[in-house]
Amino acid sequence: MEFTPPAESTPETKSGSPEPLRRPVSSLPGVGPRRAEALARLGVRAVADLLVHVPFRYETRRNIETIASAGALIGADGKSPEHVVVIGEIAAVRVARGRRVRVEATLEDETGTLSLTFFNAAWLAGRLNPGRRIRCTGRVERSGRMLRMTNPRWEPVETGGGDAAPPAAVATAPTEGTPEVPPDAEAPGRATLVPVYPATESLPSRAVSDLVGAALEVALPVLEDHLPAAYRTERDLPALADAIRMVHRPKDAAEARAGRRRLAFDELLLLQLAVAIRRRERLRLLSAPPMPRTPEIEARITARLPFRYTEEQARVVEEIAADLARGVPMNRLLQGDVGSGKTVVALDAMLVAAAAGRQSALVAPTELLAEQHHASIGRMLAGADLRVELLTGSLGAAARRERLAALADGGIDLVIGTHALLGDDVQFHRLGLAVLDEQHRFGVHQRAVLRERSGDGLSPHILVMTATPIPRTLALTVYGDLDVSSIRGLPPGRKGTATRVMPFSRAGEVWAHLAERVGRGERGYVVVPVIDDAPDLPGVEARRAALATGPLAGARLEVVHGRMTSEERQAVMDRFRDGEADVLIATTVIEVGVDVPEATTIVIEHADRFGLSQLHQLRGRVGRGDHRGLCVLIADPVTDDGHRRLEAIRSTTDGFRIAEADLEIRGPGEVFGTRQSGIAPFRVADLTRDAALLRTARRDADAWIERSPDLDRPEESMLRARVRRRHGRMLGIGDVG
Ligand code: ADP
Ligand code: MG
Repeated sequence: MEFTPPAESTPETKSGSPEPLRRPVSSLPGVGPRRAEALARLGVRAVADLLVHVPFRYETRRNIETIASAGALIGADGKSPEHVVVIGEIAAVRVARGRRVRVEATLEDETGTLSLTFFNAAWLAGRLNPGRRIRCTGRVERSGRMLRMTNPRWEPVETGGGDAAPPAAVATAPTEGTPEVPPDAEAPGRATLVPVYPATESLPSRAVSDLVGAALEVALPVLEDHLPAAYRTERDLPALADAIRMVHRPKDAAEARAGRRRLAFDELLLLQLAVAIRRRERLRLLSAPPMPRTPEIEARITARLPFRYTEEQARVVEEIAADLARGVPMNRLLQGDVGSGKTVVALDAMLVAAAAGRQSALVAPTELLAEQHHASIGRMLAGADLRVELLTGSLGAAARRERLAALADGGIDLVIGTHALLGDDVQFHRLGLAVLDEQHRFGVHQRAVLRERSGDGLSPHILVMTATPIPRTLALTVYGDLDVSSIRGLPPGRKGTATRVMPFSRAGEVWAHLAERVGRGERGYVVVPVIDDAPDLPGVEARRAALATGPLAGARLEVVHGRMTSEERQAVMDRFRDGEADVLIATTVIEVGVDVPEATTIVIEHADRFGLSQLHQLRGRVGRGDHRGLCVLIADPVTDDGHRRLEAIRSTTDGFRIAEADLEIRGPGEVFGTRQSGIAPFRVADLTRDAALLRTARRDADAWIERSPDLDRPEESMLRARVRRRHGRMLGIGDVG
């Protein structure tokens, strides 16, 4: 799982050019090792990275003033506001040598004269040639009868009359390739948009802006567009070089928007093209065993279930059955809230596979969950002529050898385990279906492993289950090659769960309430953030001791966490399930899958320290039986994000809405660990803002790859190179990220 460095996701240069854009930023004037390091922290390493280091907003500078009107802005303190913009012509310039060297220049326009003073910049004397038109930005002060600006920002104003003077090094001058600024843009009364860049203390926005200016100068003349002109016209997109100029040096807000739109669309389109190519290859190159769900099979399955499918389940079962019947591998995501009934749907598919004489594997995220799946599936299949086995890391060597052998010779029909199922020593026999529970990182590589081990060279069908729904926008991008099935709502009879947020100062009430519930025969969980005591946090054992001798004295408390052996854990879970323990003090090990209907209350301490989807999952541990569940979040959140997460979890139990909130709070790079899984986060596109662009990109990419699967038409050569360069590695990584 590799991270695609941002340097690879930046614009290309003409092939055969000296590739000035690939040079490190340290090749730009004024960038030493320290500045290069500060830039690297912003994700900017090569000159080209600067081009897509886009402003996150623009400031409207004061209107351009005449010298006289600038003077009128001076207040009682003798100073104007900052950032007054004046345009004039240099009338005179001289170097004065006093305690400090200074350059004195005189700027004139039709209305008056302004003195400019620059300290410690003798070299400017050679730039501020008399007759040159410049634009100055700064504070105007009255000094005697004169108006003065000290150390203003300045840049030359091209007159369009063949003024060949080179732009000053410090200036954010329009650069080559930039359309001439129309005269009226410089007329007094027009606002100027100043880009504001993501910056750090050691690298302020203005310094970034100057560097971007230098990069534009290098880049704009050599930048070639990878999008064919006809397509750009159709989608109303500016050319790449224009878009980059517009984003960094917009003449007006409309330009800034148009430039950004093109760059964002670019990112989305390139990704969607990669996704479309990948999808096409899966459907064309890979074969899977067809496994029909005939009416007889259907009758056998439903006879085993102690309930009828909900409408949502029935629809999803059909979607899956349609995939399984085909000779190309299914790649489907099944999403639905905790307890919505996904596992039964998956079991249905596994039974379809068994009826076709095919093996199934269920891969769970933790041993605890694998054990639970094994127990509940075992109960449902009791008496069936199927061998269901568990294969986890904590199996003894002899038992493991026996199960591996049975798996390889087809003695086992359905195997349940953790990631160990993808281990080197595992050989399947006619593997038809792999179900991956909460395995967001399952990807092309793992698929290839399963194909190699499937025992007959066919690709198994793949079903990924998640209780953390993927926001629609993400589903289209990172997970773009997945078909998605959703189960909305819960099976009938569920009472749901109420959620309360409480400060630590009121924890006493919480414990009293939990004790009362335990007294009525209900059970509960207390979740703490750490196993071991941390400086500011007591661990599981410490909490158990404190509760046992304090507010929960008399209740039977047990501890469960991820460092226990699987036997120890299973023993505790069994006692809890059987009612021999009242309250489990747990870490997030109980986050997924634990299913004890009598557990009605979950108290989460330091809840602001948990992620949004973790909180949602933990809450899903209760409200699974006939009692309404209660989830209490105890926290005194200190960060903004902490507050937002608690509010999000308090205000809804809809996993789909929680997923959207998570995306908004954390950003797509963090959600589902896509950052680690090799998908460079977008630099310009914003999935919460650009959903419409994303849909267009998706449609266009699909149509494009249909027409030109290999992108081998002459006008597509740059595009193909860019898709490969940018997503080649990612393409090899994730089916689902
Ligand atoms: P998930 O895997 O989505 O968390 P499960 O498949 O484990 O959900 O189902 C949760 C509980 O609901 C299980 O005890 C299951 O037997 C039960 N269940 C599933 N579908 C139905 C249904 N249609 N009617 C009643 N109970 C159901
Ligand atoms: Mg489940």
